[in-house]
Amino acid sequence: MQNKHYIAGQWVPSTSNETIDVINPATEEVFESIAAGNTTDIDAAVVAARDAFDNGPWPKMSGAERAVILRKMAVIINERIDDLAAIEVKDNGKPFPEAQWDIEDCAATFEFYAGLAEQLDSSEEVIEIPEPRFSTTVVKEPIGVAGAIIPWNYPLLMATWKVAPALAAGCSMVLKPSEVTSLTALNLADIAEQAGLPPGVLNIVTGRGQEAGQALAEHKGVDKLAFTGSVPTGSKIMQVAARDIKNISLELGGKSPLLVFSDCDIEKAVEWIMFGVFWNQGQVCSSTSRVLVEQSLYPALLERLAEETKKITIGAGDKDGVLLGPLVNKTQYEKVLQAIDRGVADGAKILTGGGKPEGLEKGYYVEPTIFTDMEEDSWIWQEEIFGPVVCIKSFDTEEQAIRMANNSRFGLAAAVMSKDKQRCKRVAKAFRAGIVWVNCSQPTFCEAPWGGYKQSGIGRELGIWGLNNYLETKQITSFDSDEPWGWYIK
Ligand code: NAD
Repeated sequence: MQNKHYIAGQWVPSTSNETIDVINPATEEVFESIAAGNTTDIDAAVVAARDAFDNGPWPKMSGAERAVILRKMAVIINERIDDLAAIEVKDNGKPFPEAQWDIEDCAATFEFYAGLAEQLDSSEEVIEIPEPRFSTTVVKEPIGVAGAIIPWNYPLLMATWKVAPALAAGCSMVLKPSEVTSLTALNLADIAEQAGLPPGVLNIVTGRGQEAGQALAEHKGVDKLAFTGSVPTGSKIMQVAARDIKNISLELGGKSPLLVFSDCDIEKAVEWIMFGVFWNQGQVCSSTSRVLVEQSLYPALLERLAEETKKITIGAGDKDGVLLGPLVNKTQYEKVLQAIDRGVADGAKILTGGGKPEGLEKGYYVEPTIFTDMEEDSWIWQEEIFGPVVCIKSFDTEEQAIRMANNSRFGLAAAVMSKDKQRCKRVAKAFRAGIVWVNCSQPTFCEAPWGGYKQSGIGRELGIWGLNNYLETKQITSFDSDEPWGWYIK
């Protein structure tokens, strides 16, 4: 698969012959390269997907038949957990146990959508209508050719969140992974082929966003575009999609709040704050990177949090015991260090961290960093950093905490920690966010909807909502009476 795209069931080089280096973020060394796809490559992939959709067996198969192949994909992924996780570590930098967790999740997601594919076979519904001479049924059909553009933070998992439901629905598709981390997504082609997916149903074109990504978003042969990435790119995609009224779903960024009330166990709060922002090196769209702590607990919590944060083992993702790996690449590393500088320039104080860890000269490492004393309207409090950086402020009342939590242009996730169940319920309801955690932060399951309010996106992935992204709804209304209609001809 080296330097090749996967189109119509074949590995083919890029028409430009151009390649992109793949760099291990722990060593800064080039260890692989991928093909730099362009408009011509994307066009070939969309043509293959269109042919597979219009003339191939996939959309015509029953959901149960498609489920057999999706389940085989889940089995193969499960058999390859360690091998795929090792690729992810080298490509993305994440610690090996995190990568294993991602890959297990991918298998679970294929398995889950196999179940939903089966349910599609009995999804035809008869709708109650007031006119006895008519009957109406509603059927779900695959939307057609889907385009999927994904980011680099969970390379195989973000691909799976789109590929599994699109295939379950009976769509054919073109996947454009992030140019930073394409390797596990390319492996998906082999997995699909081994599982018996017909050629042309899943096509994968690697390449840069401005070339391959934009060509896919602009392509008239794409019926649905599913995008996960940053707000600026999401906005560009929306503009491009508007030209053809293309159906889009957008999973974008966030700056999610975590509210800690003083009645909660301080040790549990410290652990979930850390998990909420240092997991995956903080490169998580739903990361709870704005923490609000009730004033009476604030000093003690800061002390414990700093103590535990300093103990985090930083290093290459393939080393035992490492809990914080390098950031994904030089660009992201520089962006995060610049964000830290900006926080300091704006007057915020660093409680711990703030730079490159000692003893790790090579690799894109950033210390886990805690900021305090920032203004509520400051850049560092309001904007997504996408690194291991948490901003903490105190609050006095529940009302104030909710107001501060919702004072954001994002609305992806939010979390609350308190022993008072009634309060948790109240606060959960008051959050303007699509995902809410109570007494935890981050765990999510493929059965539940995922997506944001406000600028964090449009639509939901996962669960039945994820499947509906790739389905059209058709009504079939029938005039069942033997009597004439009698409007023009009496
Ligand atoms: P990005 O927007 O830079 O890139 C995402 C994808 O879009 C990549 O494949 C890229 O090649 C492509 N792309 C870039 N420019 C394009 C263009 N003009 N047209 C079409 N495609 C283009 O984002 P990133 O840096 O890869 O990922 C980080 C961002 O993703 C963060 O903002 C994060 O919050 C967000 N994210 C959101 C979710 C979610 O579920 N809401 C999940 C993961 C990441």
